[in-house]
Amino acid sequence: MTEHTLTVAGVAVDPRHWIGGERVASAGTFTDVSPIDGRALGEIARGTPAEAAAAVAAAKAAFPAWAATPRAERARILHAIADGVEKRLEELAIVETTDNGALLRSHRRGVMPRVAHNFRFFADWSLTLDHEDFETRGHTNHVSWDPAGPCVLITPWNAPLMLATWKIAPALAAGNTVVLKPAEWSPLTASLLADIAAEAGLPAGVLNVVQGYGSEIGDALTSHPDVRRISFTGSVPTARRIAASAAPHLTPLSLELGGKSPLLVFADADLDLAVDLAVEQYDNAGQVCLAATRILVEETVAEEFTRRFVAKAGALVQGDPREEATDIGPTIHPRQLDRIDGFVRRAVEAGARAVIGGHRVDERSYAPTLLTEVAQDSEIVQEEVFGPVLTLQTFADEDEAVRLADDTRFGLAATLVTGDRERADRVTGRLTAGTVWVNCFFVRDLKAPFGGSRHSGVGREGGTWSFDFYCDLKNTVTAPKGWNDHG
Ligand code: NAD
Repeated sequence: MTEHTLTVAGVAVDPRHWIGGERVASAGTFTDVSPIDGRALGEIARGTPAEAAAAVAAAKAAFPAWAATPRAERARILHAIADGVEKRLEELAIVETTDNGALLRSHRRGVMPRVAHNFRFFADWSLTLDHEDFETRGHTNHVSWDPAGPCVLITPWNAPLMLATWKIAPALAAGNTVVLKPAEWSPLTASLLADIAAEAGLPAGVLNVVQGYGSEIGDALTSHPDVRRISFTGSVPTARRIAASAAPHLTPLSLELGGKSPLLVFADADLDLAVDLAVEQYDNAGQVCLAATRILVEETVAEEFTRRFVAKAGALVQGDPREEATDIGPTIHPRQLDRIDGFVRRAVEAGARAVIGGHRVDERSYAPTLLTEVAQDSEIVQEEVFGPVLTLQTFADEDEAVRLADDTRFGLAATLVTGDRERADRVTGRLTAGTVWVNCFFVRDLKAPFGGSRHSGVGREGGTWSFDFYCDLKNTVTAPKGWNDHG
């Protein structure tokens, strides 16, 4: 504990940056507020371009030794980080819930175990990367997965530690060093991770955390000539700024962005399953990039679907995310609540009807909302709300279903509910989406590629695709001749 240490839900959190293995303060701070009750949790270091540059310098200095560390040793340290996450799982869960308002039970049972799994999975996967050599006219082609260098990782607030570690783990396993910039609305667990990584034996400078506003330090990170990779998860407008900032040095980018994903319910579907999957889209108060916010239902079952949906959604418990019984917690920030309300108001003014919800519950939460009578080209159908707001449209046949489903600028995910396997194959083949779920949602193997098409992103991460991004692949072609030993 130092004079700087905050106590959040009984857990000590250092609000300063973590640069080169040391805590570093900034002259300024910003106030971190809990979405649960609007209470100030503490003052967080407000990074400037100077701290951003110091973090990149630390990552650059630490790179040669970490890159030269045998993969198996790097993997051992990543497993030790996973051990540390598991040991402090309860603390991480309560701090994350206090900081971003997502359900404590999800953090305990789903999110934090997945954080540990991110480290274990990518540690193990890095050991499988060697391919067999190829041979061409007696020449050997040997492919090596060289670490690229310092990586800048920038993450959003809706799943802070999960999304950060989904990038940190493969970047480190590949032999890179990292500068993480967590979102200013949820900065705390990144700081705890820095402690855990240091305790696990990760050398100084291999992982650095810089706190602050993206608008103030983002450019210093993304335009830095020593940065070799930028992986960003967040909104489309920020992605455009980052791409422009990275352009002068042609720094490779991975962009995981927003979505407006469809959930298609065909008349041959198990309707109860369809309703369960539809109601699941209110998880995390709708603040999920993958959420299937556009429900498209075949006309003949639309009335029955709506009836069952309203009954099921009506049973959701909205309230304090720390309570076991709560299904929907608060929205991250009053500004986000205003944004959600603005979308719904404009939709209603344009003719939409709120079947359920359509209003704030209090100054922190928005009621789960279902809007019908929405036009395909309307804002509410085309733009990401990032709140508990779903639209419902009907379709007459498969062609119309596909046309509506595919008609946005996004391409992150799609969910189909159908009892007909051939239909599932046909429709899947016609949709533009990084992930398609058939009769399920959210389940995913970390070995599989993840990302979005169109404005939902650039590139894929996951399994070998993560290492494709975080490595400089090198093919060494060796001739059978020219050796002194004539061998
Ligand atoms: P955001 O774009 O406002 O911010 C994301 C991060 O970018 C934050 O850390 C922020 O500080 C930083 N940032 C802001 N300006 C910057 C700049 N000029 N340079 C560098 N960094 C800058 O997004 P958000 O509101 O935090 O997150 C919500 C968005 O994230 C939604 O659009 C959601 O769909 C998307 N998201 C996508 C995925 C995915 O995997 N595809 C996952 C979660 C969230």
